Amino acid sequence: MTPNPLLDFSGLPRFDAIRTPHVSPAVDDLLVEARATVERVAADSRPASWATVVEPLAETLDRLDRAWGAVRHLNAVVSTPDLRQAYHDNLTKVTAFHTDLAQDMRLFDRYRALAASPEYAALDGARKKAIDNELRDFRLGGAELPDEKKARFKAVQEELANLSAKFDDNVLDATNDWALFVEGEPELAGIPADVLAEARAGAEAEADGKRGWKLTLRMPCYLPVMQYADNRELRAALHRAYVTRASELGARPEWDNTPVIARLLVLRREAAELLGYPNYAEYSLVPKMAKNTEEVMTFLNDLGRRVKPFAERDYAELTAFARDDLALAEFTPWDLAYASEKLKAKRYAFSEQEIRHYFPEDKVLAGLYRLVETIYGITIREATAATWHPTVRFFDITDRDGTLIGQFYLDMYAREHKQGGAWMDDAINRRRAGARLQHPVAFLTCNLSPPVDGKPATFTHDEVITIFHEFGHGLHQLLTRVEVAGVSGIQGVEWDAVELPSQIMENFCWEWDVISHMTAHVDTGAPLPRELFDKLLAAKNFQSGMQTVRQLEFALFDMLLHSAWDPHGGGEWPTPQALAEAVRREIAVVPRAPYDRAVQSFGHIFAGGYAAGYYSYKWAEVLSADAYSLFEEQGVLSPAAGARFRDEVLARGGSRPAIESFVAFRGRPPQLDALLRHNGMVIPA
Ligand SMILES: [Zn+2]
Repeated sequence: MTPNPLLDFSGLPRFDAIRTPHVSPAVDDLLVEARATVERVAADSRPASWATVVEPLAETLDRLDRAWGAVRHLNAVVSTPDLRQAYHDNLTKVTAFHTDLAQDMRLFDRYRALAASPEYAALDGARKKAIDNELRDFRLGGAELPDEKKARFKAVQEELANLSAKFDDNVLDATNDWALFVEGEPELAGIPADVLAEARAGAEAEADGKRGWKLTLRMPCYLPVMQYADNRELRAALHRAYVTRASELGARPEWDNTPVIARLLVLRREAAELLGYPNYAEYSLVPKMAKNTEEVMTFLNDLGRRVKPFAERDYAELTAFARDDLALAEFTPWDLAYASEKLKAKRYAFSEQEIRHYFPEDKVLAGLYRLVETIYGITIREATAATWHPTVRFFDITDRDGTLIGQFYLDMYAREHKQGGAWMDDAINRRRAGARLQHPVAFLTCNLSPPVDGKPATFTHDEVITIFHEFGHGLHQLLTRVEVAGVSGIQGVEWDAVELPSQIMENFCWEWDVISHMTAHVDTGAPLPRELFDKLLAAKNFQSGMQTVRQLEFALFDMLLHSAWDPHGGGEWPTPQALAEAVRREIAVVPRAPYDRAVQSFGHIFAGGYAAGYYSYKWAEVLSADAYSLFEEQGVLSPAAGARFRDEVLARGGSRPAIESFVAFRGRPPQLDALLRHNGMVIPA
């Protein structure tokens, strides 16, 4: 029998040999091995030490992660029905193993004994942090609770998971259920042809073969109708249906999320109180960079105070334009997207297609690599490795002296059976295993248009930004110098700080000194004209004030709902809806319809991972903008600023708190000014 390639850990994943039938046997083997290791560590009678507790677990978890990571990756980029089945079958087993691990009291005791031992005091910062993180996660999972409270905590977690799933189902059902059939084409004026073709096909596909066009609340229909339909009544009808989804004003009472939200909030408060926190926000913030609710609220309020005048200016300009150019004297919520599109088109006339001709793939990658080689003192060279598709490329990153730092796969193009979107994932994490140093390896995945007719692939400016963004996550994973599993690369980095290394890269895409070196017209070879770049730059901050206060409104509502709002009644705001309206009065500049029930479909905080965490979008933007301002001060291509970012942020990974890394890099705590300046929101002196 040939050995299972998923169990070969001697080097890179064996993508040339891995086949679906290898998956289950490999995962079963690794889980048996991992459970045996857990038993051995738990039952070990020797004193708890780094060598008797952390190392054996790290070794076995690393093997499981690497094999499972390869399977997860293949399922995402070259899925087949068989592979998907194998992935789902084994996902259940792998998840169950991790759940058991997190609740294993014997391991918790071993970690506690290790933290109390004389050895701990002598460990370096990265090792201490890895142990502290384990203890924190055990505690947040309820490991320290007495038995009856532990059972209750578990029951609460399960009910919360079910309620979140129910919340999502209700929004999805309410969205999918609604449709409007339009019979006359004049009523659809302004809507793009591809959207109408889709709507026509939708009507024809109906069981009773409807005539005309079927409009729905799904994004690819809803958004273009709101942006482009000249028919105001049509926009009003879709708007009303959209903002009342899954509410008491929606189509069906069984899809109303009002009771789901009420129960969720009661249970979240209970879970937090069981663990000794006054509310869910304080509990949610424990593993995050923000210290407490007060710090987040101060941050949001400061930003709001400085941004609101610009949002008001944006709104005044928009309503004046709507009145004068569009004859919309009484501005309504369903005019917002429509008038904004018209104003944008009037002010910044250029086409995405025109821009994209100047960004062929080879120029973009060469420009990106030259940038990071210059500022970080590294070298990137194409290399060879087994891959999962002929278009996938592979690269080595070395130091200037040729020492290997890390490697990455680059899978650029959209294709069938590949998950949409762009992301970075770890293939191998950096760590020391005895005498051997394991180099980090990353997967960089995008879904860009492939080359056609022998011409190179070309990218829009947005797509160039996406490539830079994901490459920033990749550098965080690959330029780490930490040798401890769990805190090297992106592992163990606080959730609200993980976008700093990726977002900082986006800034370079707005620098003429960087961009001018990475363009060549796909037909003529001419560089991007400065005039076109200036138009791009001008459009960048269109309505940035309005967009920022909208994000702040969501973030403030989320934070107050999980801290100040009382789920047991009483208090200043009787319902989440009342709180949402109070927040809007405070911060919003765009009026809402009285029937607006957007809270009932706010999936980020009720069904996603963003509860008491929505602020992190703006939080990370402030960090990355402020960090980038050091490059602006020292020179955009400054190797000194680059070396400092590499040493203090990228190299450190999760081995110390993100705020310490930030301050070590910037020389002071984060400030709002750079983000406001980048967004064009500065009051002229
Ligand atoms: Zn990201």
